[in-house]
Parts: sequence; C-alpha cells; structure tokens
Amino acid sequence: MAPQTISILNLLPEPDVFIHTSHGTRIPAHAPILASMSPVLENLIDRPRKHRSSERIIQIHGVPCDAVTAFVRFLYSSRCTEEEIDQYGMHLLALSHVYMVQQLKQRCIKGLTHRLTTESVVDVLQLARLCDAPDLHLRCMKLLAKNFKAVEATEGWKFLVKHDPWLELDILRFIDEHETRKKKSRRYRMEQGIYAELSEAMECLEHICYEGCTHVGPYDAEVKRERTPCGRFATCQGLQVLIRHFATCEKKVRGGCVRCKRMWQLFRLHSYVCHDTDSSCKVPFCRQFQLRMQQEKRKDDAKWKLLARKVASAKVMSSLSLPKRKRDEETRVTMDNPGIRSFKLL
Ligand SMILES: [Zn+2]
Ligand SMILES: [Zn+2]
Ligand SMILES: [Zn+2]
Repeated sequence: MAPQTISILNLLPEPDVFIHTSHGTRIPAHAPILASMSPVLENLIDRPRKHRSSERIIQIHGVPCDAVTAFVRFLYSSRCTEEEIDQYGMHLLALSHVYMVQQLKQRCIKGLTHRLTTESVVDVLQLARLCDAPDLHLRCMKLLAKNFKAVEATEGWKFLVKHDPWLELDILRFIDEHETRKKKSRRYRMEQGIYAELSEAMECLEHICYEGCTHVGPYDAEVKRERTPCGRFATCQGLQVLIRHFATCEKKVRGGCVRCKRMWQLFRLHSYVCHDTDSSCKVPFCRQFQLRMQQEKRKDDAKWKLLARKVASAKVMSSLSLPKRKRDEETRVTMDNPGIRSFKLL
C-alpha cells in the first residue's frame, strides 16, 4: 500500500474484517470504512455470523489479487493511479459495479474510454454491457464501426462470433445504421450547400436587378460603370454573364439551350421567394410567374414551393450557425463553387 495509506492504517483500530482473494491472499480491513463506501459490502458485513466470535470474512474471487488490493486501496483513499487503471481497469470496473462504488466506476469508465484500442474494444464492450455503462458501450460501438476491418482480425472478435451471436448481430446492426446515418448526414450537408448557394443566387439576382452591378442593371437606374469586380457576391459576375446570354441567346429555352434553362429556373425560383406583393418587383418575369401560379395549378408547383422553402431555411441556417466574419468567408467559399451552374430541380 502507498506510504500515506499505511500511516493512516496505523492510526486506525485493529482490522475487524478480512477480504479473501482467489489466491488465498488475506487483506485486513475496517468494516466502517468498507460499509461507508459500498452498500453491498455494508450488507455483507451486517450479515449475521455463525458465532459472534468468528472473524468477518468477505470473499472476492474471480479477479487478480492485485486488482482486489487496488480496489480496497480505493475504498480507503478514494484514489487510484493511472498504472492501476492501465493494469486492472476492467477488473476495477467490474468490482466497482458489483459493489456499487459509483465514484470508482466513473473513474474506470473514463480511464477505459481513453484507453480503448481495436485489440481491447470487444472485451470492453462486453464488460460495458454487463456493468451497465451506456457511455462506454456507445464509445466501443463507434470505435468498432470505424475500425471494423481491424477489429474483425482480433482474437476478441473471433471469440465473440463463436460464443455470442446475439451480440455480434447487435454490433453488425449498429454498424449498418451508423453507415446509413453517415450517408444521410453527408447527403443532408451536400443538399444544404446547394440550397445555400441558391439562396445566395437569389440575393445576388435582386442585387443585379435592383442596384445593378458591373455589366448588368435595371433599365431605369444609372449603373456605375466601374469595371472592378463585384465586391458583394462572388457569383455576381457569373450571374451577369448568364443574364446577358439569356437576353441575347437565339436558341432560348424552347430551342433547348441549357444555359437559358438555368436562368429561367433562377427567375422562376425568385418568384417563389419574392416578398413583393405590389407588382413592383424589378426581377424579370417575377410578376408573370406569380400570376401563372395563381391562375393555373401546375403539377410541379408543389416541388417549387418546397425548393423555395428549403432555400429560405438554408439562408436562416447559415446566418444562425456562423459568426459574421466566418460567414463571409464561408459564403465566398460556397459561391466559388460552381454548384449554381449545375443546379437541378429534383
Ligand atoms: Zn454585384
Ligand atoms: Zn441560351
Ligand atoms: Zn420578385
């Protein structure tokens, strides 16, 4: 035992309880201390003895003697060393669970979580299930899912496959769901990126149609003819080129021009997100699209409304999730992305 523990022991009365371990080691201890740290030990100590004079003995078998010593030391000092966790972390978790020593249990869970490896993960997972340690269990499952190829080659996994097919099934199911979740969130992030780009494009379109920028502007406003690139939207230049193309293209949408079709889609999307209700909107075709929306119930109307909602919410999300400076940088990154040129309506 550590020197300070020994000195405390010297101050204590004679030991009145003995812990017997697997290899016949006998650890002297004090009933009040054991009882104060563990309700289970308290019950064992309070058990009626055959003879009042006989010794109180507690048997702790099935774990190495040194692990029991470390356990008893914790009951006295509320401490255990990193080396003890390194060597007996799993045994100490089992002991702390069985004897309900919550403080030690938390310490072991933390220690084992930090020490998880592909070699140990299967054993720790099984123990976490037995010891009712859901956080540790989840960490094991995640590590398993991440490094499954390596884990599959371990002895622990081979043993589990042979002896616990239900747990194997559980793990495989978790890995499967984990993969699905990852794919879903990847798809979600990608979609959010596209909606955010479209949302920027909608703002940029209004900027061009209301204020005008380097090459394109509203017919009734004076456009500054500065040839410096637009400082507000990274896609502004591209959008202006597209608008100019749209105005002069000979093929047009009906002739099968893909660029015109894209521009047409952007105009149409604008009409769904436009808040102008008094017909004063300066974005081309806005009013026409809105009138058509009211007059005819077009089949694809619902899809456009849904897209408009997603675009609007992407704008809210991006403005909520990032601080201003970061947001500007981020916007620049997304707007450099050619996504807008390849946007497709689902
Ligand atoms: Zn601009
Ligand atoms: Zn065209
Ligand atoms: Zn409008």
